[in-house]
Amino acid sequence: KKPPTRKGSMVDVPADLMQQIHGLEAIFTVSGDKLKAIVKHFVTELNKGLTKKGGNIPMIPGWVMEHPTGKESGDYLAIDLGGTNLRVVLVKLGGDRTFDTTQSKYKLPNHIRTTKNKDELWAFIADSLDTFIKEEYPEGVPKGSKLPLGFTFSYPASQDKINEGILQRWTKGFDIPGIEGHDVVPMLQTELAKRNLPIDVVALINDTVGTLVASLYTDGETKMGCIFGTGVNGAYYDVVSDVEKLEERLADDIPKESLMAINCEYGSFDNEHLVLPRTKYDVMVDEQSPRPGQQSFEKMTSGYYLGELMRLALVDLHSQGFIFKNQDITQLQKPYVMDTSFPARIEEDPFENLEDTDDLFTNELKIKTTSVERKLIRKLAEVIGTRAARISVCGIAAVCQKRGYETGHIAADGSVYNLYPGFKEKAHAGLRDIYGWAEESDFSKYPISIVPAEDGSGAGAAIIAALTEKRLAKGLS
Ligand code: BGC
Ligand code: MG
Repeated sequence: KKPPTRKGSMVDVPADLMQQIHGLEAIFTVSGDKLKAIVKHFVTELNKGLTKKGGNIPMIPGWVMEHPTGKESGDYLAIDLGGTNLRVVLVKLGGDRTFDTTQSKYKLPNHIRTTKNKDELWAFIADSLDTFIKEEYPEGVPKGSKLPLGFTFSYPASQDKINEGILQRWTKGFDIPGIEGHDVVPMLQTELAKRNLPIDVVALINDTVGTLVASLYTDGETKMGCIFGTGVNGAYYDVVSDVEKLEERLADDIPKESLMAINCEYGSFDNEHLVLPRTKYDVMVDEQSPRPGQQSFEKMTSGYYLGELMRLALVDLHSQGFIFKNQDITQLQKPYVMDTSFPARIEEDPFENLEDTDDLFTNELKIKTTSVERKLIRKLAEVIGTRAARISVCGIAAVCQKRGYETGHIAADGSVYNLYPGFKEKAHAGLRDIYGWAEESDFSKYPISIVPAEDGSGAGAAIIAALTEKRLAKGLS
């Protein structure tokens, strides 16, 4: 596929629209100096999160206390509760840094993100597992044995041990009552028991921790696991003696230099609004969300919100009389009607004619755009995407600074990282501005580079389940 044309001629854009475009560029542009200031504050906040008193960033110990050796082996089940699908995976770890996976995806019923009845969620997961096991083990699971399961639960969940996850708060538009403040593992286990399923939930895993561990299984240079998707977050290993909040929570015989995977939950960075350059549209996204005041960093960078930011800006320009004159914008007035595929497709669209953008607006939003309006829309998509990429790498730079990592690989996954046009280039350009590296055409040459992750919620969850079984077998908790 031909790379999208970045520059298009703007000569035909009238002065008043050009002024609006410049205004949008101005509010969404983040300079290298600003990025450095964000990283500086970020490091302080990461450290604060590790104290007993805590801070805005949860910095949750993930109870994965070793690097995988690559020799882990056996059959494991893994599930990943995502925004649109439940993924169920059977992972066969080969014991030689290789693994095989067989998976099925089960589409979440539409209303389940916000159902009032939490049992519906757990029943759906248990039913899906039931179907999967019947397919994979037509003769039944061998009598007396239980399949160990790693549960990837990609929300901030506190853990005092690995097979526990007390949901702190929902993110990414999930809003099911009765789960926040509770351990989700028994909720799932109860539904499994009702169906007599031979499954043991041995580990609850954040997607970033799974990504970190899966990638380390195959690449020893891995320093972090990061998700740039519907939500944003990162995980890394810290030394237990540097994690004040672990004092008195670890057995006495655990050496001080042991490692602990930390799920940062840095989507909540800057909830007190000290450094991030918020626009009026960011303020609106926040105020209209089910959890105002939370996930400030995520709301400016993650896929769940990029289309919504774009929508709010367009509605605003329309209400001021700059665009879509005499058009019925009823469709555009629906919150979240533009998911991330909108800005992504618009950025992918060659600038010369913006035909796909034309189709998108005509078909999905019932708005007939003029060619100059499409140029504005295209610019808007670019500035929103660029800002997201640049700001989101501040989390990486902060963790690397905190740990003193000057080189290494950052294993990344998520829809924005994998599918958003230009995201990888823009993210590396952001890191380059932060570190002052000389420009390279091939970003794998940068001292710290972002690389595609191994399958965190499949292989990663299985490896963690295997590490957990080994640790339990040694009598450690
Ligand atoms: C959640 C994290 C998760 C991230 C990426 C955030 O909204 O709080 O737990 O890692 O999304 O999926
Ligand atoms: Mg996910």
